[in-house]
Amino acid sequence: MATRQLPLFALRRPQRVCFYDLSAGKSRAKFSAYTPKAMVFFSEKYGVPVVSDPADLASFDVVFFSLHCFRDFYKVARLAEHKRPGQEWIAGGKACATPTGVSWIMDYIWIGDCRASFPLILAGDRDLAGMWSAKNPDRMIRYVDEDIDPEPLSSSEIEMSKGCPRRCLFCIHPWRHHYQEAPKEKIKEFIRAHPGRGVGLVSNSSDDVSYYDEIAATLTESGKTDMIVSNAVQGLTESVVSQRKREMLLGVEGMSERLRWAVNKPIPRETYRAKLDLCLRHGKQIRTVYQLNLPGEEARDFDELVDDVTYMRRQFKKGSWAIPFIPNQPSAHTPFQWVVPRYSVEMADRVMEFRKSMFGSGATGITFYVPAVLGAAKWFAQVIAEWIPITPAVADAVQKIPPKLGVREMVQALDSLGVTLPREFLHRDRDTVFPWSNIITTGDDADKRKRFEGMERKLSSTRFTGTSQSVPEMWDR
Ligand code: SF4
Repeated sequence: MATRQLPLFALRRPQRVCFYDLSAGKSRAKFSAYTPKAMVFFSEKYGVPVVSDPADLASFDVVFFSLHCFRDFYKVARLAEHKRPGQEWIAGGKACATPTGVSWIMDYIWIGDCRASFPLILAGDRDLAGMWSAKNPDRMIRYVDEDIDPEPLSSSEIEMSKGCPRRCLFCIHPWRHHYQEAPKEKIKEFIRAHPGRGVGLVSNSSDDVSYYDEIAATLTESGKTDMIVSNAVQGLTESVVSQRKREMLLGVEGMSERLRWAVNKPIPRETYRAKLDLCLRHGKQIRTVYQLNLPGEEARDFDELVDDVTYMRRQFKKGSWAIPFIPNQPSAHTPFQWVVPRYSVEMADRVMEFRKSMFGSGATGITFYVPAVLGAAKWFAQVIAEWIPITPAVADAVQKIPPKLGVREMVQALDSLGVTLPREFLHRDRDTVFPWSNIITTGDDADKRKRFEGMERKLSSTRFTGTSQSVPEMWDR
């Protein structure tokens, strides 16, 4: 029987308010590695207790949740029976830009950045522009995109930039936030004042920060290194690579040049190989992140990736290279929201074969690490959490979906278990009303539909298909 845990922090204020840490796990450790950073920041800054045992909830009037991924929506479903009558539940966090999944149980949901607004919410203010309310669920809400705040996030982390100056069509950052950089001097001051060697300069694309070369030099002068690395392969320069001491993250995303071009991450193959060469020549540990199931993807795209890996294995006899693959989940509030989700079991199997082929690679050259791919059913559970309320009954049904089906088959399987997805889930067009359509985001370019149509034209072009065919067959529309 589980023992009852005390709140992790002493209550410093008279209001009976707490955070619930969904990531604490069975050990209920004080802040696990998965605890959202926002929860750590707000609870410490405002002295809000954090609990992780459902039995502790009853003594609080208001419970805050920080939801940073769609799996959290399922954890909320399992916790729901512990909500006592009259208790107020309020969610915030990255996942809340699509609040439908938790709208059935939350009283309020904060949409967007919250650093400036949290003290108001804590003081009891609910009538705020970014606050979704169960009392008026269809009200239009403008996503709160705050100005960048130079106050450090923790003793070792500071936000250096927000948004992203690139505009990859699948990525949330440029479409939900406008691009901003923190004042250069604040970042330098932080680096110099920080006692440890490792500092976190939070940025989606650090090499794109206009003053990053100066920051790299400051890091080197002070004998420090940053833990956050580049997402933008194109931006890497020799001076930055040579100074980096930790693993380098390269967000490649598309397996081939044509896929990267289609999704507006136009890294030519030649550039990609040159950047890999640069990193490996400097003896860096690298991590290249790819997606699978991008629109138009075919077996030949994976062939190109394998060719690139083979080429580098011939050039370098040592080094370390991690290659994670993430199944694409078309994100809300991006041009990809009109892409019908697809999951190719065949492609996932191929990635898993590739993974197997890399076991023991270090014995003869570069050591490769290819993590297992998220399976179809688990991916599907995340995707639908943006479309329907994840009640305990829905969570139970989702668990029964067979693990290896295509999207249409999973939709049917769910239907036969009594849970029907809206028609729009598989049929999207210019007039589609999404479950998140009452949330308005602009980012750096509000015309997301125009960008999606641009991608459709690319996918139909002879440059993409290499033939005079129209849209590739594998793009499940
Ligand atoms: S470079 Fe990275 S962070 Fe920037 S838009 Fe593209 S995927 Fe997003």
